[in-house]
Amino acid sequence: MKGIFPIEKLERIQTPFYYYDSEVLRTTLSAINSEIQKHEGFVVHYAIKANANPGVLRLIREAGLGADCVSGGEIEAALKAGFASNKIVYAGVGKSDWEINLGLDNDIFSFNVESIPELEVINQLARLKGKVAKVAFRINPNVGAHTHANITTGLAENKFGIAMQDMETVIERATQMENVKFVGLHFHIGSQILDMGDFEALCNRINDLQTQLENHHIRVGNINVGGGLGIDYQHPNRVPVPDFKAYFDTYAKKLKLRPGQTLHFELGRAVVAQCGSLIARTLYIKEGTHKKFCIIDAGMTDLIRPALYQAYHKIENIGSEEPLEAYDVVGPICESSDVFAKQIDLNRAHRGDLIAIRSAGAYGEIMASQYNCRKLPQGYMSDEI
Ligand SMILES: *Cc1c(COP(=O)(O)O)cnc(C)c1O
Repeated sequence: MKGIFPIEKLERIQTPFYYYDSEVLRTTLSAINSEIQKHEGFVVHYAIKANANPGVLRLIREAGLGADCVSGGEIEAALKAGFASNKIVYAGVGKSDWEINLGLDNDIFSFNVESIPELEVINQLARLKGKVAKVAFRINPNVGAHTHANITTGLAENKFGIAMQDMETVIERATQMENVKFVGLHFHIGSQILDMGDFEALCNRINDLQTQLENHHIRVGNINVGGGLGIDYQHPNRVPVPDFKAYFDTYAKKLKLRPGQTLHFELGRAVVAQCGSLIARTLYIKEGTHKKFCIIDAGMTDLIRPALYQAYHKIENIGSEEPLEAYDVVGPICESSDVFAKQIDLNRAHRGDLIAIRSAGAYGEIMASQYNCRKLPQGYMSDEI
């Protein structure tokens, strides 16, 4: 089964470009909203780093989600898209002074702090402004996610977060400081996680940590469990919306929220991946000695995931209904890793056919580069072309 694309409209746009199906995005957002409404105190922040296209951000903001940022630039993008500053959370191991000041000036909901030196700088900068910064501590829960090694973030040896055994010390330090206020705990174990057992392991860990803190009379207002819910890259047509019910139900069942606590989520990929496709044009069909190459005008500069993580994306020739043939689909960049897929079946391809690389809405357009002096791909919303 192939996806449905408005070929005539797409034909008029300069390739390669990103095409975002607004309908898929809206359906995804309403699935999220209808699930979280079932659970008291659940709040979702969209992780802007997955995709900061203004059209995409607008639909997400309209659906009422908050924003999860990992840089000053992302805070600026969130504000520009109209996200309320009290719905912005800001994480990152290396926050620079201007980024912290930007967060302070806008009174963001919380800084997710990853070390004591960072806490001290936030306290100093807040004092200079006569403000009190709300801080949550990102704790490294030492929970492994069964995903690609480059996208696990919750193991003890990662650069992210504060070690569990230091949790009480940092909270105590914050309590002694005048210009920060401890408001919660933050976690994030990785990305593209499909095994609910990984999230369950995180819940168990948080339950233990909460008991430990309660034994020392420390109250936590907010628990932020990060993001990481995966999507079905194999079947973008059959499974366009991730299983949000299983995801939120896992937390509702396994995490022991205390009365009045708010549970924050930071979903990126699960919100935007399936609505986006990278649309490219077939340049040449090249007959190798043993195989055929379908050379397209998009490359790893437009979508780096296959080159970076050996990621799989379903690829369709949306310009042909001819019988299937096997191709290596490759880009024009001068790197051997500029390959989107090897030996996959496409409807027989000819020069000029439009190719759709599916499930590319997350970590696609935003990671594009200008290597080889290429132009950055543009992104278009389906209801605006
Ligand atoms: C990347 C990131 C997310 C989003 O991860 P997804 O896998 O896209 O859901 C959430 N929180 C933090 C802190 C992150 O770094």
